[in-house]
Formats: sequence, structure tokens, C-alpha cells
Amino acid sequence: MPELPEVETTCRGIAPHIEGQIIKQVIVRQPKLRWPVPETLNQDLTGLCIQSVSRRAKYLLFSTASGTVLLHLGMSGNLRIMSLDQAAGKHDHVDFVFTDGTVLRLNDPRRFGAVLWTTKPAAEHQLLKDLGPEPLLSDFNGELLYSLSKNRKTAVKSFIMDSHIVVGVGNIYANEALFMAGILPTRQAGKVSLTRYQKLAECIRVVLQQAILQGGTTLRDFVNETGKPGYFQQRLRVYGRAGLPCVSCNQPLTEIRIANRSTVFCPNCQR
Ligand SMILES: [Zn+2]
Repeated sequence: MPELPEVETTCRGIAPHIEGQIIKQVIVRQPKLRWPVPETLNQDLTGLCIQSVSRRAKYLLFSTASGTVLLHLGMSGNLRIMSLDQAAGKHDHVDFVFTDGTVLRLNDPRRFGAVLWTTKPAAEHQLLKDLGPEPLLSDFNGELLYSLSKNRKTAVKSFIMDSHIVVGVGNIYANEALFMAGILPTRQAGKVSLTRYQKLAECIRVVLQQAILQGGTTLRDFVNETGKPGYFQQRLRVYGRAGLPCVSCNQPLTEIRIANRSTVFCPNCQR
């Protein structure tokens, strides 16, 4: 599943190809995505210039003078830059065709992705308005985590995966960041100190930034490749390593489930 680092890399990969471009046509071959693609999308967007491409949580935002396209990759979506003469395949559901012949193509076999259009400020959109801060921006920090965690009995792992608290901390990244910070995933969120939350906020940032840096090497995949951009194979220290020795102390790692998600930790290094 594309996580925040993949979406950020997609954003950086497609932006140079479509920023400043005029939309000639939007071809919708399959409108039944997670939510229906608006029937008027082609007429709404034709003639508009994409002024900027940005990311909020796992949504890509294409800003125009009249409104914003919200695009989500869902479980299996990917975007590629193509030329007009490249035939569409079975799961190529939406094409944004630009006046210079460039095509931005959404491929999504499982169809949990979304393409939506809003003429209101994007930040006020139903899907975005209640989201917590971006983990890579300065308004996310240990003080914020500490103040929001007061009296919370939920596991700290579930707490940092809650998009109202902070966006983009998926299961793999939560496991890795908690290991790096030395915090037991099951510890009650309200019982973690400010100092430890400061460390955790920094570890979340590091883990996500490492993934984004690794993703940078796949940027070429966005252009004219027949294969799909692979999701990142990061070198993971705990996730997927249950029973194997801890990279720090050599004790075997333990796996449990929290909120039905695989949770791997070192009982010796995390407390
Ligand atoms: Zn250990």
C-alpha cells in the first residue's frame, strides 16, 4: 500500500511534468473508485492550468485557479507520466491529458483510490479538515504529542497512528519509530513522558525521511516505464523480523497484535 513516503515521492516525481501545464481533457474509463469520480470532471477541468502539485497526508493536491483536484492512491494506485500514443491497460482508470501531449495516468487494480474535485479551499474539504499536522513540518513535535496524550489509555502505537493526532504514520513506520525511540508499543499514551515524546517525534521524522530518500532513486519510474513504480523496500529493523535477533541487543524480537496490526518490538530495548 502506498504510504506517506511513496505519496511524497510520487508528488516530487510528477510535479515537474505537470506544473504549469494546461489540461486538454480528462478521460475517465472507470468512475467507480472508492468514491465515484465526478461526472463533470472533464468539463470542470478542461482549459485549467495546474499551478502547483502538493501533498496533504496521503492526498495529492493539484491546484488550479478554479479549484483543487484531490487524488488518493488507495491500496494499489500509481501514477505515471506517459505520452498520448501509449495505449491504456486494463486498470488505467483516469488520464489527465495536457495540451503538450503529456498524459498523467492513474492505474489502480483494486480501485480504492479516489479522484475528486473541490472549488472550496482544499484544507476545508471533508476529507482533510480534521487531519492532524504533517509529521515532517515543524508544528509536529514532542510537546504536541505530550499535550494530546494526557489521560489517554490507548496504546502509544495506536495513538501515533491516529490521523487526528498526526498524519502518515502507517503501521511499518510506527513499529520502526517506537523501536528507534526505545518505547514499548503497548505503553499507555498518557504515561509517556515529554522527553520520550520529543525523542519519538524525532524518530518518526527520521524514519519517514529515510524512506523518502530511498524513494528518490525510483523517480525515473514515473516516466514512460511499462512496469509500475515499486513500493519502497526499506531496510527495517523490527517490522517483519519477529523471532529474529534484535539489531541492538541480540535478544529475539516479539510479535503481538495491537488494533489487529502486526506489532514487533524488543522486550529488552523498549520499555
Ligand atoms: Zn534489543
